[in-house]
Amino acid sequence: MKIKLWGVRGSLPSPTDNREYRNKVRNILQRAVKAGLNKTSEINNFINSLPENLQYYCGGNTTCAVVTSKSGNHYILDCGSGIRPLGDDLLNGPCGKGKGNLKIFITHVHWDHIQGLPFFKPMYIPGNVVEFISPYEALEKNLKDQMEFPFFPAPFHGTASDKKFTLIEEGREIELEEGLYVDCYHLKHPGGSYAYRFRKEGKTLIFATDAEFTGETLEKNGPETDFFMNADLLIIDSQYTLDEHFSKFEWGHTSYTMAVNCGIRWGVKHLVLTHHDPGNDENRLKEIYDDAVRHRNHMKESKPVINMAREGMTFEL
Ligand SMILES: [Zn+2]
Ligand SMILES: [Zn+2]
Repeated sequence: MKIKLWGVRGSLPSPTDNREYRNKVRNILQRAVKAGLNKTSEINNFINSLPENLQYYCGGNTTCAVVTSKSGNHYILDCGSGIRPLGDDLLNGPCGKGKGNLKIFITHVHWDHIQGLPFFKPMYIPGNVVEFISPYEALEKNLKDQMEFPFFPAPFHGTASDKKFTLIEEGREIELEEGLYVDCYHLKHPGGSYAYRFRKEGKTLIFATDAEFTGETLEKNGPETDFFMNADLLIIDSQYTLDEHFSKFEWGHTSYTMAVNCGIRWGVKHLVLTHHDPGNDENRLKEIYDDAVRHRNHMKESKPVINMAREGMTFEL
């Protein structure tokens, strides 16, 4: 399976601003002068030689990711504003012809996880089938409510695709297609949130955002440890610094330091830090990434491999 990230911000879409743009351009140009860049034909190689934070930006869209199986089926995770560009991309396939069959998993209905749905074009095309999978009985009502007059001009059930709602229960795995299984696990978050675990041919991907993991979590052996243990890829909430977490205890998010501790404790191979705070600019995200790696090294561990989630990032398991 392949996973692609389309939205990695927490709480609120956070487009980059002009100050940040100019800082980045300045930094790149300083490096270009230093490297003696003077031919346009060398620009691409020069860009490819830049550090990752200057080649890309993490992006401002709220949570959305897609798991694509070998057979080409798409399993979407959350409908933050990142689902808008994902929807545009899907129009190049069967969804553009009204032959799409999409499954959308919802971690919870905080606005940053559903706000992109009204702008998801495949939902407006007749013939497409959009199936929402979650443990929430009220999900249909919640999605309908956010598109009610006067908040949005098109009602949820006025959109032309067929909609289905399927309930998933914690502790009961479902087979999505041959050999691809999914199950969920509740997370500590105001109002609740669920992690989803996809398993195929011995490989495990877990998507766990909007979760407050603490030292207490890690001490316990039990169903939570069993759920997360030995994940090949764990995409995890890491909105806060340790200091912020102390002042925002019980707000439902994890510090990046604790996220790294989780990755180490659970024997995770690859850890992706996500749900970036909307107040953190690209420089700050780079500092957080460097500090997360330093923390892992300080713990005398070489695993997990750590990435800062950014829009467009892909992984294959
Ligand atoms: Zn959130
Ligand atoms: Zn939330």
